[in-house]
Amino acid sequence: MASSRPLHAPHCIVGVIGGGQLGRMIALAARRMGVRTVIWTGGLEAPAVEVADEVIDLPFDDPAALKDFCSRITVATVEFENIPRETLEAVAQCTPLHPSPAAISICQNREREKNFLKTHGIPHTGFALISSAADLASAMEELAGPGVLKTADFGYDGKGQIKLDGGENPVEIWASFDAPRAVLEAWVPFEKEISVMVARGADGVTVTYDPAENRHRHHILDVSIVPARIAPNVATQAAAIARRVAEALDYQGILGVEFFLKPDGSLLVNEIAPRPHNSGHHTLDACVTSQFEQQLRAVIGLPLGSTRLLTPVVMLNLLGDFWQDETTPPDWLPLFQDGEAILHLYGKRHGRGRRKMGHANILGSSLESALTRAEALKTLWLNR
Ligand code: AMP
Repeated sequence: MASSRPLHAPHCIVGVIGGGQLGRMIALAARRMGVRTVIWTGGLEAPAVEVADEVIDLPFDDPAALKDFCSRITVATVEFENIPRETLEAVAQCTPLHPSPAAISICQNREREKNFLKTHGIPHTGFALISSAADLASAMEELAGPGVLKTADFGYDGKGQIKLDGGENPVEIWASFDAPRAVLEAWVPFEKEISVMVARGADGVTVTYDPAENRHRHHILDVSIVPARIAPNVATQAAAIARRVAEALDYQGILGVEFFLKPDGSLLVNEIAPRPHNSGHHTLDACVTSQFEQQLRAVIGLPLGSTRLLTPVVMLNLLGDFWQDETTPPDWLPLFQDGEAILHLYGKRHGRGRRKMGHANILGSSLESALTRAEALKTLWLNR
Protein backbone atom coordinates (compact mmCIF):
# COMPACT_ATOMS: atom_id res chain seq x y z
CA MET A 1 0.00 0.00 0.00
CA ALA A 2 2.80 2.40 -0.77
CA SER A 3 4.14 4.37 -3.66
CA SER A 4 7.36 6.32 -4.01
CA ARG A 5 5.99 8.10 -7.06
CA PRO A 6 5.15 11.78 -6.57
CA LEU A 7 1.49 12.40 -5.89
CA HIS A 8 1.12 16.04 -6.81
CA ALA A 9 -0.09 17.31 -10.16
CA PRO A 10 1.20 17.55 -12.84
CA HIS A 11 3.22 14.36 -12.25
CA CYS A 12 0.28 12.49 -10.89
CA ILE A 13 -1.54 9.83 -12.88
CA VAL A 14 -4.93 8.95 -11.44
CA GLY A 15 -6.34 5.51 -12.15
CA VAL A 16 -10.13 5.41 -12.18
CA ILE A 17 -11.87 2.09 -11.65
CA GLY A 18 -15.01 2.30 -13.77
CA GLY A 19 -15.64 4.23 -16.97
CA GLY A 20 -19.18 5.63 -16.64
CA GLN A 21 -20.25 9.25 -16.82
CA LEU A 22 -18.80 9.99 -13.39
CA GLY A 23 -15.42 8.71 -14.60
CA ARG A 24 -15.83 10.84 -17.69
CA MET A 25 -16.41 13.99 -15.63
CA ILE A 26 -13.46 13.11 -13.36
CA ALA A 27 -11.29 12.72 -16.48
CA LEU A 28 -12.51 16.05 -17.90
CA ALA A 29 -11.65 17.82 -14.63
CA ALA A 30 -8.28 16.06 -14.61
CA ARG A 31 -7.43 17.25 -18.13
CA ARG A 32 -8.12 20.82 -17.10
CA MET A 33 -5.91 20.41 -14.02
CA GLY A 34 -3.01 18.82 -15.91
CA VAL A 35 -3.54 15.46 -14.26
CA ARG A 36 -3.44 12.33 -16.39
CA THR A 37 -6.04 9.57 -16.07
CA VAL A 38 -6.10 5.86 -16.78
CA ILE A 39 -9.64 4.51 -16.98
CA TRP A 40 -10.23 0.82 -16.23
CA THR A 41 -13.61 0.11 -17.78
CA GLY A 42 -14.16 -3.42 -16.50
CA GLY A 43 -15.09 -4.26 -20.09
CA LEU A 44 -18.37 -2.34 -19.72
CA GLU A 45 -19.71 0.45 -21.92
CA ALA A 46 -17.63 3.43 -20.93
CA PRO A 47 -18.46 7.07 -21.67
CA ALA A 48 -15.16 8.02 -19.98
CA VAL A 49 -13.05 6.37 -22.67
CA GLU A 50 -13.15 9.24 -25.15
CA VAL A 51 -11.77 11.75 -22.66
CA ALA A 52 -9.30 9.57 -20.73
CA ASP A 53 -5.59 9.71 -21.41
CA GLU A 54 -5.29 5.93 -21.31
CA VAL A 55 -7.81 3.10 -21.20
CA ILE A 56 -7.73 -0.48 -19.97
CA ASP A 57 -10.77 -2.12 -21.50
CA LEU A 58 -10.73 -5.45 -19.65
CA PRO A 59 -12.84 -7.06 -16.92
CA PHE A 60 -12.16 -6.29 -13.26
CA ASP A 61 -11.20 -9.89 -12.53
CA ASP A 62 -8.47 -10.00 -15.20
CA PRO A 63 -5.08 -10.36 -13.43
CA ALA A 64 -3.16 -8.86 -16.36
CA ALA A 65 -5.45 -5.82 -16.37
CA LEU A 66 -4.86 -5.35 -12.64
CA LYS A 67 -1.09 -5.46 -13.07
CA ASP A 68 -1.21 -3.12 -16.02
CA PHE A 69 -3.50 -0.66 -14.19
CA CYS A 70 -1.29 -0.53 -11.11
CA SER A 71 1.90 -0.13 -13.13
CA ARG A 72 0.59 2.92 -14.97
CA ILE A 73 -0.77 5.03 -12.11
CA THR A 74 0.25 6.99 -9.01
CA VAL A 75 -3.01 6.78 -7.14
CA ALA A 76 -6.37 5.08 -7.74
CA THR A 77 -10.00 5.92 -7.15
CA VAL A 78 -13.43 4.56 -8.10
CA GLU A 79 -16.30 6.10 -10.01
CA PHE A 80 -18.90 3.53 -8.96
CA GLU A 81 -19.11 1.30 -5.94
CA ASN A 82 -20.17 -2.03 -7.35
CA ILE A 83 -16.66 -3.27 -7.95
CA PRO A 84 -15.65 -6.68 -6.59
CA ARG A 85 -14.04 -6.39 -3.16
CA GLU A 86 -11.14 -8.60 -4.35
CA THR A 87 -10.33 -6.11 -7.12
CA LEU A 88 -10.36 -3.22 -4.67
CA GLU A 89 -8.13 -5.09 -2.21
CA ALA A 90 -5.72 -6.08 -4.98
CA VAL A 91 -5.43 -2.50 -6.25
CA ALA A 92 -4.88 -1.22 -2.70
CA GLN A 93 -2.04 -3.72 -2.31
CA CYS A 94 -0.08 -2.13 -5.12
CA THR A 95 -1.05 1.53 -5.15
CA PRO A 96 -2.84 3.99 -2.83
CA LEU A 97 -6.61 3.67 -3.34
CA HIS A 98 -8.96 6.41 -2.10
CA PRO A 99 -11.55 5.93 -0.77
CA SER A 100 -10.37 2.77 0.97
CA PRO A 101 -11.71 -0.69 0.09
CA ALA A 102 -13.21 -0.85 3.59
CA ALA A 103 -15.20 2.37 3.06
CA ILE A 104 -16.35 1.34 -0.42
CA SER A 105 -17.32 -2.09 0.83
CA ILE A 106 -19.60 -0.59 3.50
CA CYS A 107 -21.35 1.61 0.94
CA GLN A 108 -21.78 -1.12 -1.68
CA ASN A 109 -24.02 -3.27 0.47
CA ARG A 110 -27.16 -2.07 2.28
CA GLU A 111 -26.73 -4.52 5.13
CA ARG A 112 -23.20 -3.31 5.91
CA GLU A 113 -24.26 0.30 5.36
CA LYS A 114 -27.18 0.07 7.79
CA ASN A 115 -25.06 -1.71 10.39
CA PHE A 116 -22.39 0.97 10.02
CA LEU A 117 -24.96 3.76 10.56
CA LYS A 118 -26.39 1.95 13.57
CA THR A 119 -22.96 1.33 15.12
CA HIS A 120 -22.03 5.00 14.79
CA GLY A 121 -25.34 6.33 16.08
CA ILE A 122 -26.09 8.07 12.78
CA PRO A 123 -29.85 8.52 12.25
CA HIS A 124 -31.17 6.12 9.62
CA THR A 125 -34.39 4.44 8.52
CA GLY A 126 -35.51 1.54 10.72
CA PHE A 127 -34.62 -1.78 9.11
CA ALA A 128 -34.54 -5.54 9.51
CA LEU A 129 -32.13 -7.94 7.82
CA ILE A 130 -33.84 -10.57 5.69
CA SER A 131 -32.45 -13.81 4.34
CA SER A 132 -35.54 -16.04 4.31
CA ALA A 133 -39.32 -15.96 4.01
CA ALA A 134 -39.49 -16.54 7.78
CA ASP A 135 -37.33 -13.44 8.41
CA LEU A 136 -39.58 -11.43 6.12
CA ALA A 137 -42.72 -12.71 7.84
CA SER A 138 -41.53 -11.72 11.29
CA ALA A 139 -40.14 -8.36 10.09
CA MET A 140 -43.43 -7.52 8.37
CA GLU A 141 -45.33 -8.48 11.47
CA GLU A 142 -43.15 -6.28 13.64
CA LEU A 143 -43.33 -3.39 11.19
CA ALA A 144 -47.10 -3.69 10.95
CA GLY A 145 -47.31 -1.15 8.13
CA PRO A 146 -45.81 -0.09 4.83
CA GLY A 147 -42.15 -0.75 4.06
CA VAL A 148 -39.66 -1.23 1.23
CA LEU A 149 -37.81 -4.47 0.61
CA LYS A 150 -34.38 -3.75 -0.89
CA THR A 151 -31.65 -6.12 -2.07
CA ALA A 152 -28.54 -5.97 0.10
CA ASP A 153 -26.19 -5.96 -2.91
CA PHE A 154 -26.08 -3.93 -6.11
CA GLY A 155 -29.12 -1.77 -5.49
CA TYR A 156 -29.37 1.79 -6.76
CA ASP A 157 -31.90 4.14 -8.40
CA GLY A 158 -34.77 2.08 -7.04
CA LYS A 159 -33.47 -1.14 -8.64
CA GLY A 160 -34.01 -4.31 -6.62
CA GLN A 161 -36.76 -2.74 -4.49
CA ILE A 162 -40.42 -3.36 -3.89
CA LYS A 163 -42.78 -1.32 -1.84
CA LEU A 164 -44.95 -3.38 0.52
CA ASP A 165 -48.13 -2.14 2.13
CA GLY A 166 -47.86 -4.77 4.85
CA GLY A 167 -50.74 -7.00 3.75
CA GLU A 168 -48.76 -9.15 1.29
CA ASN A 169 -47.91 -12.79 1.71
CA PRO A 170 -44.24 -12.88 2.78
CA VAL A 171 -43.66 -16.34 1.28
CA GLU A 172 -44.84 -15.19 -2.15
CA ILE A 173 -42.89 -11.93 -1.94
CA TRP A 174 -39.67 -13.67 -0.91
CA ALA A 175 -40.07 -16.32 -3.63
CA SER A 176 -40.41 -13.61 -6.28
CA PHE A 177 -37.57 -11.49 -4.89
CA ASP A 178 -34.38 -12.37 -6.71
CA ALA A 179 -31.78 -11.84 -3.97
CA PRO A 180 -30.22 -13.98 -1.25
CA ARG A 181 -30.14 -11.15 1.29
CA ALA A 182 -32.20 -8.02 1.69
CA VAL A 183 -33.25 -5.32 4.13
CA LEU A 184 -36.82 -4.41 4.96
CA GLU A 185 -37.05 -0.70 5.66
CA ALA A 186 -39.92 1.13 7.26
CA TRP A 187 -41.65 3.43 4.78
CA VAL A 188 -40.70 7.00 5.65
CA PRO A 189 -43.39 9.60 4.99
CA PHE A 190 -40.79 12.22 4.19
CA GLU A 191 -41.37 15.87 3.39
CA LYS A 192 -38.36 16.18 1.15
CA GLU A 193 -35.31 14.29 0.01
CA ILE A 194 -32.04 16.15 0.32
CA SER A 195 -28.38 15.24 -0.09
CA VAL A 196 -25.06 16.63 0.99
CA MET A 197 -21.78 16.18 -0.83
CA VAL A 198 -18.90 16.02 1.63
CA ALA A 199 -15.20 15.82 0.82
CA ARG A 200 -12.44 14.78 3.18
CA GLY A 201 -8.83 15.41 2.29
CA ALA A 202 -5.67 13.44 3.00
CA ASP A 203 -5.12 15.57 6.12
CA GLY A 204 -8.62 14.85 7.48
CA VAL A 205 -9.93 18.33 6.62
CA THR A 206 -13.61 18.03 5.74
CA VAL A 207 -15.74 20.36 3.64
CA THR A 208 -19.42 20.18 2.70
CA TYR A 209 -21.46 21.62 -0.16
CA ASP A 210 -24.85 23.27 0.36
CA PRO A 211 -27.58 20.62 0.56
CA ALA A 212 -29.44 19.78 -2.65
CA GLU A 213 -33.20 19.18 -2.68
CA ASN A 214 -33.87 16.16 -4.85
CA ARG A 215 -36.97 15.14 -6.74
CA HIS A 216 -37.26 11.79 -8.48
CA ARG A 217 -39.04 10.48 -11.55
CA HIS A 218 -39.37 6.69 -12.03
CA HIS A 219 -37.14 6.30 -8.91
CA ILE A 220 -34.34 8.18 -10.68
CA LEU A 221 -33.14 11.65 -9.83
CA ASP A 222 -35.09 14.14 -11.93
CA VAL A 223 -34.04 17.53 -10.55
CA SER A 224 -31.73 18.78 -7.85
CA ILE A 225 -32.62 22.21 -6.52
CA VAL A 226 -29.78 24.11 -4.86
CA PRO A 227 -29.83 25.56 -2.33
CA ALA A 228 -32.43 23.20 -0.90
CA ARG A 229 -35.52 24.98 0.40
CA ILE A 230 -35.02 23.94 4.02
CA ALA A 231 -34.63 25.69 7.34
CA PRO A 232 -31.06 26.82 8.13
CA ASN A 233 -30.88 24.51 11.17
CA VAL A 234 -31.79 21.52 8.95
CA ALA A 235 -28.99 22.44 6.54
CA THR A 236 -26.55 22.69 9.45
CA GLN A 237 -27.71 19.36 10.84
CA ALA A 238 -27.37 17.65 7.41
CA ALA A 239 -23.84 18.98 6.98
CA ALA A 240 -22.89 17.81 10.48
CA ILE A 241 -24.23 14.30 9.82
CA ALA A 242 -22.43 14.13 6.46
CA ARG A 243 -19.16 15.07 8.19
CA ARG A 244 -19.74 12.41 10.83
CA VAL A 245 -20.26 9.80 8.12
CA ALA A 246 -17.03 10.82 6.37
CA GLU A 247 -15.08 10.80 9.62
CA ALA A 248 -16.50 7.48 10.80
CA LEU A 249 -15.48 5.93 7.47
CA ASP A 250 -12.01 7.51 7.78
CA TYR A 251 -12.80 8.65 4.29
CA GLN A 252 -10.54 10.25 1.70
CA GLY A 253 -12.38 11.60 -1.33
CA ILE A 254 -15.88 12.81 -2.09
CA LEU A 255 -18.98 11.19 -0.67
CA GLY A 256 -22.70 11.74 -1.24
CA VAL A 257 -25.07 11.37 1.71
CA GLU A 258 -28.79 11.12 0.88
CA PHE A 259 -31.37 12.01 3.50
CA PHE A 260 -35.09 11.88 4.11
CA LEU A 261 -36.32 15.05 5.79
CA LYS A 262 -39.30 14.25 7.98
CA PRO A 263 -42.16 16.69 8.62
CA ASP A 264 -40.87 17.26 12.18
CA GLY A 265 -37.58 18.59 10.76
CA SER A 266 -35.50 15.53 11.66
CA LEU A 267 -33.22 13.80 9.16
CA LEU A 268 -32.61 10.14 8.39
CA VAL A 269 -29.75 8.91 6.22
CA ASN A 270 -31.12 6.86 3.33
CA GLU A 271 -27.99 6.04 1.38
CA ILE A 272 -24.28 6.79 1.11
CA ALA A 273 -22.44 6.94 -2.22
CA PRO A 274 -18.62 6.66 -2.03
CA ARG A 275 -17.96 8.79 -5.14
CA PRO A 276 -19.21 11.88 -6.96
CA HIS A 277 -23.01 11.80 -7.04
CA ASN A 278 -25.73 12.77 -9.48
CA SER A 279 -27.07 15.31 -6.99
CA GLY A 280 -23.66 17.03 -7.06
CA HIS A 281 -23.57 17.70 -10.81
CA HIS A 282 -24.68 21.32 -10.31
CA THR A 283 -21.28 21.97 -8.73
CA LEU A 284 -19.78 21.90 -12.24
CA ASP A 285 -21.27 25.29 -13.05
CA ALA A 286 -22.58 26.70 -9.79
CA CYS A 287 -19.77 26.18 -7.25
CA VAL A 288 -16.20 27.38 -6.99
CA THR A 289 -14.89 23.80 -7.03
CA SER A 290 -16.81 21.05 -8.81
CA GLN A 291 -17.30 17.71 -7.09
CA PHE A 292 -15.03 16.15 -9.73
CA GLU A 293 -12.15 18.53 -9.15
CA GLN A 294 -12.71 18.07 -5.41
CA GLN A 295 -12.46 14.30 -5.81
CA LEU A 296 -9.14 14.69 -7.62
CA ARG A 297 -7.83 17.13 -5.02
CA ALA A 298 -8.79 14.79 -2.17
CA VAL A 299 -7.44 11.66 -3.82
CA ILE A 300 -4.15 13.22 -4.96
CA GLY A 301 -3.59 14.84 -1.57
CA LEU A 302 -3.99 18.47 -2.67
CA PRO A 303 -5.73 21.03 -0.44
CA LEU A 304 -9.51 20.98 -0.91
CA GLY A 305 -11.19 23.77 -2.86
CA SER A 306 -13.96 26.12 -1.80
CA THR A 307 -17.45 24.63 -1.95
CA ARG A 308 -19.12 28.04 -2.12
CA LEU A 309 -22.32 28.19 -4.16
CA LEU A 310 -22.02 31.01 -6.69
CA THR A 311 -25.61 31.07 -7.91
CA PRO A 312 -28.95 29.36 -7.41
CA VAL A 313 -29.16 26.37 -9.75
CA VAL A 314 -31.44 23.56 -10.83
CA MET A 315 -29.82 20.43 -12.22
CA LEU A 316 -32.13 18.66 -14.66
CA ASN A 317 -31.26 15.06 -15.45
CA LEU A 318 -31.57 14.21 -19.14
CA LEU A 319 -32.87 10.65 -19.26
CA GLY A 320 -33.28 8.56 -22.39
CA ASP A 321 -37.03 9.16 -22.48
CA PHE A 322 -36.33 12.75 -23.59
CA TRP A 323 -34.91 11.36 -26.85
CA GLN A 324 -37.13 11.62 -29.92
CA ASP A 325 -35.93 8.19 -30.94
CA GLU A 326 -32.89 6.16 -29.92
CA THR A 327 -30.47 8.19 -31.99
CA THR A 328 -32.24 11.57 -32.08
CA PRO A 329 -31.71 13.81 -29.07
CA PRO A 330 -34.25 16.39 -27.95
CA ASP A 331 -34.25 19.77 -29.66
CA TRP A 332 -31.52 21.56 -27.72
CA LEU A 333 -32.26 24.96 -29.26
CA PRO A 334 -34.56 26.16 -26.43
CA LEU A 335 -31.82 25.28 -23.95
CA PHE A 336 -29.22 27.26 -25.87
CA GLN A 337 -31.69 30.13 -26.27
CA ASP A 338 -32.01 30.27 -22.49
CA GLY A 339 -28.47 31.58 -22.17
CA GLU A 340 -28.01 30.42 -18.56
CA ALA A 341 -28.69 26.73 -19.09
CA ILE A 342 -25.57 24.62 -19.49
CA LEU A 343 -25.66 21.30 -21.29
CA HIS A 344 -23.53 18.32 -20.27
CA LEU A 345 -23.83 15.21 -22.43
CA TYR A 346 -22.12 11.94 -21.65
CA GLY A 347 -21.47 10.84 -25.22
CA LYS A 348 -23.85 7.86 -25.11
CA ARG A 349 -25.10 7.00 -28.60
CA HIS A 350 -28.47 5.45 -27.84
CA GLY A 351 -31.09 7.22 -25.76
CA ARG A 352 -33.73 5.02 -24.24
CA GLY A 353 -35.89 4.70 -21.14
CA ARG A 354 -34.19 5.61 -17.93
CA ARG A 355 -30.61 5.83 -19.21
CA LYS A 356 -28.75 8.83 -17.89
CA MET A 357 -27.72 10.60 -21.11
CA GLY A 358 -26.62 13.91 -19.62
CA HIS A 359 -27.78 16.76 -17.46
CA ALA A 360 -28.41 20.48 -17.74
CA ASN A 361 -27.47 23.01 -15.09
CA ILE A 362 -29.95 25.85 -15.17
CA LEU A 363 -28.62 28.89 -13.38
CA GLY A 364 -30.79 31.73 -12.19
CA SER A 365 -30.72 35.02 -10.36
CA SER A 366 -33.40 33.36 -8.23
CA LEU A 367 -34.19 29.73 -7.55
CA GLU A 368 -37.77 30.30 -8.74
CA SER A 369 -36.52 31.48 -12.13
CA ALA A 370 -34.20 28.47 -12.50
CA LEU A 371 -36.95 26.07 -11.46
CA THR A 372 -39.56 27.56 -13.81
CA ARG A 373 -37.15 27.39 -16.75
CA ALA A 374 -36.06 23.84 -15.91
CA GLU A 375 -39.68 22.68 -15.71
CA ALA A 376 -40.48 24.39 -19.02
CA LEU A 377 -37.60 22.59 -20.79
CA LYS A 378 -38.64 19.28 -19.29
CA THR A 379 -42.26 19.70 -20.34
CA LEU A 380 -41.19 20.62 -23.84
CA TRP A 381 -38.95 17.60 -24.24
CA LEU A 382 -41.33 15.11 -22.68
CA ASN A 383 -44.41 16.33 -24.58
CA ARG A 384 -42.83 16.75 -27.99
P1 AMP B 1 -32.81 4.18 -2.83
O1 AMP B 1 -32.33 3.40 -4.01
O2 AMP B 1 -32.73 3.46 -1.55
O3 AMP B 1 -32.17 5.55 -2.77
O4 AMP B 1 -34.38 4.45 -3.09
C1 AMP B 1 -34.83 5.16 -4.24
C2 AMP B 1 -35.96 6.09 -3.87
O5 AMP B 1 -37.09 5.34 -3.37
C3 AMP B 1 -35.61 7.07 -2.77
O6 AMP B 1 -34.93 8.20 -3.28
C4 AMP B 1 -37.00 7.40 -2.22
O7 AMP B 1 -37.67 8.32 -3.07
C5 AMP B 1 -37.71 6.07 -2.30
N1 AMP B 1 -37.54 5.33 -1.03
C6 AMP B 1 -36.59 4.43 -0.76
N2 AMP B 1 -36.67 3.97 0.49
C7 AMP B 1 -37.72 4.59 1.06
C8 AMP B 1 -38.32 4.54 2.34
N3 AMP B 1 -37.86 3.73 3.32
N4 AMP B 1 -39.38 5.35 2.58
C9 AMP B 1 -39.86 6.16 1.61
N5 AMP B 1 -39.33 6.25 0.37
C10 AMP B 1 -38.28 5.48 0.09
